[in-house]
Amino acid sequence: MTERIFNFSAGPAVLPEPVLQQAQRDLFALPGVGMSVLEISHRSAAFEQIIAEAEADLRKLIGIPDNYKVLFLQGGASMQFTMIPMNLLAKGASADYILTGSWGQGAIKEARKLGTVREAATTADTNFNRLPASLNLDANAAYLHFTSNETIFGVEFQDEPEAGAPPLVCDMSSNFISRPIDVTKYALIYAGAQKNAGPAGATIVIIRDDLLERVPENLPAMLDYKNLAKNGSMYNTPPCFAIYICGLVFKWALNEGGLEKIQARNAEKAKVLYDAIDGSDNYYRGHAEKDCRSLMNVTFRLPNEDFEKKFVKEATAAGLDGLKGHRSVGGLRASIYNAFPKAGVEKLVQFMSEFRKNNG
Ligand code: PMP
Repeated sequence: MTERIFNFSAGPAVLPEPVLQQAQRDLFALPGVGMSVLEISHRSAAFEQIIAEAEADLRKLIGIPDNYKVLFLQGGASMQFTMIPMNLLAKGASADYILTGSWGQGAIKEARKLGTVREAATTADTNFNRLPASLNLDANAAYLHFTSNETIFGVEFQDEPEAGAPPLVCDMSSNFISRPIDVTKYALIYAGAQKNAGPAGATIVIIRDDLLERVPENLPAMLDYKNLAKNGSMYNTPPCFAIYICGLVFKWALNEGGLEKIQARNAEKAKVLYDAIDGSDNYYRGHAEKDCRSLMNVTFRLPNEDFEKKFVKEATAAGLDGLKGHRSVGGLRASIYNAFPKAGVEKLVQFMSEFRKNNG
C-alpha cells in the first residue's frame, strides 16, 4: 500500500485512518447489502439506516437535545452564509455579526445582500490576530453570528460570546467536534464537513426547532430550512457518500472516547507546536495572540518571506505537506485537526528546529 505522509491541509483535510480503511474495505460492497454505498438509492433501507445512524451518533457525540434538528446539506458552509439571513432575517429586522476573520467577513457580505446587518465587533484593524475586547450588541437583533474558529488566521473563541437575548448562530466549520460544547447556548450551528467531520460535499446544520417557525413562506425549496428539516435532509438526493463517511468519523470519535478525550489530545498536540514557536527566540512568530490561539490551525511567520518559501519547499520534500499559509496572513499554517497524528506534530517541531539551525 502507498505510504501516507503528514497532511497539514486546512481542508479538505486528514481523516482518521480507520475510517479510510473501513471505507476502502466496504466500498466494493457494503456488508449485508451487496452493493457499494456509491450505488444505492438514497431512498433504500440501507441508506436510511446510514443517515439515521450518522445523525444518532452525532447527537450522542455532541449531546444534541431533541428540540434541535440535524441536517446534512450541500453547498458548503458558504451556502449557509446565504441561507441564514434568507431564513432567519425578516424584513425590517437587523442581524449582528462578530468579525474575527475572512470567513466572518464572507458571511456578513452575503447577509448584506439580503437584509440589514451590523458589525457587533471586528478585529480587522490588527489583521484578525485577536478576539474583540467588547461587543456592541443590538438587544433586538434577529441573531448574533460568529465564527468559532477562523481557519485562515488561526483565531479561536475559547467560549461562546455572550449573546444576550438574540439567538446565537455559529460557523463552526473548522473546530466542529474538536471539543465539547453546550448546544443549548446555540440556536444554529453549521459546519462544512471537510475538516473534522468528513469529506467535502456535506454541510451539517444543527438548528433549534423554534427557529424554523421564522422561516418565511415561499423560499426556494432547496434553501428553506423548514422544507429540508421536514424531509429529513432528503428533499432531494443528499450527498450520500459524504454522509456515509461523516457517519464513520462520528463512530470513530465515539470510539476514541468522545469530545473530552479528543479535546485533550488536540490541546496536547497544539501545545507541542506553540511551545516550539514560543521557544524559538522569536525566529518563529505566531500570528494569533496567545489567549485565542487555535488548537486546529496554527499560524506563524518566519524572519522573512524567502525563508518561508524555503521552509515550505523543504518541509514538503520531507513529507510534511500543506504548510503554506493563506496569502492574507502569509507565512505558514499547520492545520492539526482531530485526525492529525501527534507524530506529525513532533516531526514538524523537529523540522522547525533543524531549519532554524541551518537558516539562522
Ligand atoms: N467557514 C469557515 C470557518 C471555513 O474554514 C470555510 C472553509 N475553509 C468556510 C466557511 C467555507 O466553507 P465551504 O468551502 O464549505 O463553503
